[in-house]
Amino acid sequence: KALLYNMTPEQQVYVDKWNQNHPEDDLVTTDDKLDAKTVEMAQGYDVVSVLQVFDIDEEEVYRKLSSYGIKQIALRSVGYNIINFDFVHKYHMIVTNTPAYSPRAVAENTLTSAMYLLRKWGPILNNEKEHLNFVREENLMSDEIYNQTIGIIGVGRIGSCVAEMFHALGAKVIGYDLVENPANEAFLEYTDFDTVVKNADILTLHTPLEPSMEDMISAKEFKEMKDTAYLINAARGPLVNTQDLIAALKNKEIAGTSLDVMTGEEAIVMKKFNDISELPADYQELAKMPNVVFTPHSAYYTKTSVKNMIEHSMTDVKRVLNGQKPVYLVEE
Ligand code: NAD
Repeated sequence: KALLYNMTPEQQVYVDKWNQNHPEDDLVTTDDKLDAKTVEMAQGYDVVSVLQVFDIDEEEVYRKLSSYGIKQIALRSVGYNIINFDFVHKYHMIVTNTPAYSPRAVAENTLTSAMYLLRKWGPILNNEKEHLNFVREENLMSDEIYNQTIGIIGVGRIGSCVAEMFHALGAKVIGYDLVENPANEAFLEYTDFDTVVKNADILTLHTPLEPSMEDMISAKEFKEMKDTAYLINAARGPLVNTQDLIAALKNKEIAGTSLDVMTGEEAIVMKKFNDISELPADYQELAKMPNVVFTPHSAYYTKTSVKNMIEHSMTDVKRVLNGQKPVYLVEE
């Protein structure tokens, strides 16, 4: 019997399917977030699951969960920075997550971003929609992907899918990671960070965000990049310094960018606006540039991902309740 906090309509579909296919289980949902006020709802359940961006840092939450006999918090997402691991350890709990819900979803979104930028769909659509201009202007001439060098920073689950996809299209793929995986050498050539930055026609980021990695791509890197290069960030916003990115685009140090994530994205993601003036200042500047595309942290957002968030998290719940080791145990 599990209580799933932060339920969303699209996940509810797969919760209902799970309940139908597993009559021995009882998944109950609420759209409340888990905090000191709502923790009492968990009384009588074996486990709780969350999908939230708010920190769970009140000791009360962990103390009460433990007093109800709950030993596992099952995250239905990858990031676990919302959890206070001091309290997890103090109350002898474990945390599981869903890191492999669909690397292909983000990789395919990266491929879409690359083709959109390379084939200049930003300026083409801008000409058509803003100016009813259907002229095949010279600056709309594009390149072909198999002539391009794709530079990947962070060749993990997602980065290696990205490498495989671009390699299959005939592109040259180079990558940098702290840990080199020989299996990836079928699709890419490992090199150092600076070489990737300098040589990429399309530079794409697929690392996690650690405090030391903030501003990984900033003024220095933009100056080193080719002025014809595109930057794709579907990893975490603070990896890129937004002000430096705006300056690099204005100074034509790079050709364009696709951002699925951006520092301060909480101010706009999942919100609707009536006028561009309501957007935060940096978004306003970027939104005016036809060679910039935003997606609302939706790179992961496919049916497969949403289904796997439920299936992977609940499979690990069952494993733990049956005394087995979970597949996706978060160790801190
Ligand atoms: P992963 O852990 O499988 O891979 C991350 C890779 O980055 C690892 O190989 C690691 O060694 C490498 N790395 C860590 N620090 C590095 C550094 N300083 N320099 C170079 N490489 C470094 O993770 P993943 O599943 O591939 O996901 C990557 C990131 O994508 C996540 O951390 C998350 O931020 C982001 N993500 C975004 C979305 C979205 O919808 N936009 C969805 C899922 C994940």
